[in-house]
Amino acid sequence: MTDFFDWIEHFDAPISKIHVAHPNQIQIDMLRLDQMHPTLSGNKCYKLFYNLQDAIANGKNEILSFGGAFSNHLHALAYAGKLLHLKTIGIVRGDACENPTLQDCSAWGMDLHFVTREAYRQKSSTAFLEEMHQQFPNACIIPEGGDNDLGRKGSALILGKSHLDYDVIACSVGTGTTFSGIINSSLPNQKVLGFAALKNADYLNAEIAKHTNKQNWKLITDSHYGGFAKVNPRLRAFKDEFEAKHAIELDMVYNAKMMYRIFELIRENVFESNVKILAIHTGGLQGNRSGLASAL
Ligand SMILES: *Cc1c(COP(=O)(O)O)cnc(C)c1O
Repeated sequence: MTDFFDWIEHFDAPISKIHVAHPNQIQIDMLRLDQMHPTLSGNKCYKLFYNLQDAIANGKNEILSFGGAFSNHLHALAYAGKLLHLKTIGIVRGDACENPTLQDCSAWGMDLHFVTREAYRQKSSTAFLEEMHQQFPNACIIPEGGDNDLGRKGSALILGKSHLDYDVIACSVGTGTTFSGIINSSLPNQKVLGFAALKNADYLNAEIAKHTNKQNWKLITDSHYGGFAKVNPRLRAFKDEFEAKHAIELDMVYNAKMMYRIFELIRENVFESNVKILAIHTGGLQGNRSGLASAL
């Protein structure tokens, strides 16, 4: 990894064919953003791309951001910070704790600060941000998950020249930042489907519409299987089966839900014959260490 930015900008993610037994000849290929690098992978790299580039261009060498205790975003930021010799500060939701994610972050030099859930909820408020600025006057503050214009611009780098002939692009949705970026770089004749990983996600339709002029997209809101970071036995069984059959690990929070819903839609005959689907594996596998994938 000689140059971080060059690497991400020119990364041509491998594609895995997912065999589907269906008379309509449906083709699903998976774009493996989980395969970028052993530690640094997934959509979070793309969302950080311009955020970090911008911070460096503005002479900042300290980056502060927010996340939960198993945050893929903080994990990626900590590692990128180590590579780029940037000081990183992670504001973590909830009581002080230790887990593999946070241990990695610390080992890569991130300073962790725990804040109560109540305080964390205010993380986008002017008062809270002002407090952060007082406490860390030199830090460039990136919103949770890299959810901003620069994050969307970076996500637009995910689709490239190799993806022009897919009819449908599928990706999982948390804040919708990645989805918006992908919509913006899709072709007008492609349909972009977003699979919400959270309950009551209808409000995201308006959010996403704010950030794109295109109409070739649809947010699927019944793909949460109980809510954000919630799991039900059917989903767990699907994930195990999928991984055994296709030898591709899925993270429980986002990609397992997207793939499960895609397979259900295929069974419901929603897709036309011979459709070519590109499902974006957004990574997040480090999060499986939360035990969500095994505990019930
Ligand atoms: C954060 C994340 C998402 C959701 O991305 P948004 O831009 O917030 O919608 C999807 N998949 C994985 C693995 C993630 O870590």
